[in-house]
Amino acid sequence: MSFSSDVKNELTQTISSACCYKAEAFGMILFGRSFSLSEISLMTEMQEVAERYCACIRDLTDITPLMQKSAAGNYKITVPERADRIKILEYFGYTGKELALRINLANLDQTNNDCCSRAFLRGVFLVCGSVTDPEKDYHIEFNVAKAKLCDDLMQIIDDSGLKAKKIIRNNGYVLYSKDAESVEDFIGTMGANKAFMTVMQTRAIKDLKNQINRRSNFESANMSRSIEAGLKQVSLIESVLEKISLNDMTDDLSALCKLRLENPELSLDELGKLVNPPLSRSAVSRRFKKLEKIAEELNAK
Ligand SMILES: [Zn+2]
Repeated sequence: MSFSSDVKNELTQTISSACCYKAEAFGMILFGRSFSLSEISLMTEMQEVAERYCACIRDLTDITPLMQKSAAGNYKITVPERADRIKILEYFGYTGKELALRINLANLDQTNNDCCSRAFLRGVFLVCGSVTDPEKDYHIEFNVAKAKLCDDLMQIIDDSGLKAKKIIRNNGYVLYSKDAESVEDFIGTMGANKAFMTVMQTRAIKDLKNQINRRSNFESANMSRSIEAGLKQVSLIESVLEKISLNDMTDDLSALCKLRLENPELSLDELGKLVNPPLSRSAVSRRFKKLEKIAEELNAK
């Protein structure tokens, strides 16, 4: 099962108060495949969603919709009788003759803590939403066929303190969010608490991995800096050796130059440890300063 169906499955198990039950049902029915005088219908791959849709209509209006399963495994729910469609439309305050379908806010009891807006979003998500597995990407979206309906939904999303953007795709409209926090907020607001925890945990683990990656990038940057320093010292030594031989240097300096030529990749620390007796980083650094001076003097001649 996809993460999206996990979330929907969890949402269909939410137990709502009477006001929210109506709001959720309204979301499902209004944003389903069709909500008009000629057709009230829903298409879904998920049996749980199909059953929830049917149960809502039955519980609220005493009408039992017709549920059919296609060969491909999709569920199609319809209300075949015109009189039944009229009854459902009227229940939610519609005539079915509206020129542009809008969200009838009278179906959302807004006196009690936005509970119904959250339930409504849950219903809408069940029939036209999807969310990507947070392991792969942060992405939640609602697909809406009608422009005005999409704008009204955006308003409710806004009012709920959630963030979404709108794009046009395949002659329809898509409201979506792509940042981790928003995806988390949507899932939490709709009431999928288990999925909410999953997204939060995934996000925490991803953040930690990113931190570790940043650190090892930093470490390899440091490493390439020390290699660069080593190669500079090699060319310094080579330039000195064009004028004088190792034997012309003091013993400690010639030993260090020899070791550096053999080990250009080592840091000053590591190089110091190869010297007998071992030298500290700063002692190694001082000797190379001395060598630089010698090189300057030789060049001046
Ligand atoms: Zn409510």
